[in-house]
Amino acid sequence: MKSAVYYGEGDIRVEDIEDPEIENPEDVVIRVTHTCICGSDLWYYREYDDPEEGSQTGHEPMGIVEEVGEDVTSLEEGDRVISPFSTSCGECEFCRKGIYTSCKKSEFYSPNGTLGGAQAEKLRIPQADGTLVKVPERYEDNEEVLKKLLPLTDVMGTGHHAAVCANVEEGDTAVVIGDGAVGLCAVAASKRLGAERIIAVGHHEDRLEVAKEMGATDVVSSKGEEAVEEVMELTNGGANHVLECVGAESALNTAAQIVRPGGNIGYVGVPHLESADFVNQMFFKNVRFEGGPAPVRNYLEELMEDVLQGTLDPSPVLNKVVDLEGIPEGYDAMDNREAIKVMVKVGEE
Ligand SMILES: [Zn+2]
Repeated sequence: MKSAVYYGEGDIRVEDIEDPEIENPEDVVIRVTHTCICGSDLWYYREYDDPEEGSQTGHEPMGIVEEVGEDVTSLEEGDRVISPFSTSCGECEFCRKGIYTSCKKSEFYSPNGTLGGAQAEKLRIPQADGTLVKVPERYEDNEEVLKKLLPLTDVMGTGHHAAVCANVEEGDTAVVIGDGAVGLCAVAASKRLGAERIIAVGHHEDRLEVAKEMGATDVVSSKGEEAVEEVMELTNGGANHVLECVGAESALNTAAQIVRPGGNIGYVGVPHLESADFVNQMFFKNVRFEGGPAPVRNYLEELMEDVLQGTLDPSPVLNKVVDLEGIPEGYDAMDNREAIKVMVKVGEE
């Protein structure tokens, strides 16, 4: 089968590799039809992370079940399914608490995990019953709906997690830091939870326009101290609900500066820190600081319901589409910030 493979900084190639097979009775093998390139994939593309050369890539799969392990009970060949970026058993202590990313049997997709990569024609998925969600049959071939569902594999679930962790509720003011796909989805998630005012903070005018389309009432494009001052002014001295969607130290610093004493910060960007000075600021303001890798499986069904009833649409973040052979070009476009997020249509060559 064809798959994207990592070879180092700026070097992703599409090659022929072995087909995946059923290895355990709880596995399925899917034919991938749609997947994405993610902002977090850029951490290894830019060699901040350094996975093993020759590893597959990608963690956002949607596709059709082709093979079913003998212990799988909820899925059949031909079902269209969507997978969170990590697998889960659905039964252990942590799955029952809704923290699926800490599942005792959890595995992550390549290149940082133990599984194959989703940027490929086929993928083995373990713990299928506890991991996968079926797409209702009547939408199976509806490309418009499938494009709206695809971000639920990661970025829409992650944006929602930021809003939940920041305790966003009806009538609130939420400040979202970061105008990548996760930040934009956090804007949509805050709107979905009833926030009245949503302030999007980012550095790219074109993306802040998309933020408005997804529900932002105000945008701030200035940087550093200037951005902090603008947000403090807009919120009359600080916000009670801050969603940090980048993971960079500068973003966490900004979050700690603009949060109101006693306020909430929901953080979902993978932290890449030199220092943790921002913790001091939070300490002296008695800030609630909550977050982590989003337990997407916990939110998938409710977000899918809203997409299917037409009240949630995260698809504006997918502003470039490539086929499998176009994946290197897709990485490049995200690296150069030409694309917010790239959708890969597999099998459309
Ligand atoms: Zn579990």
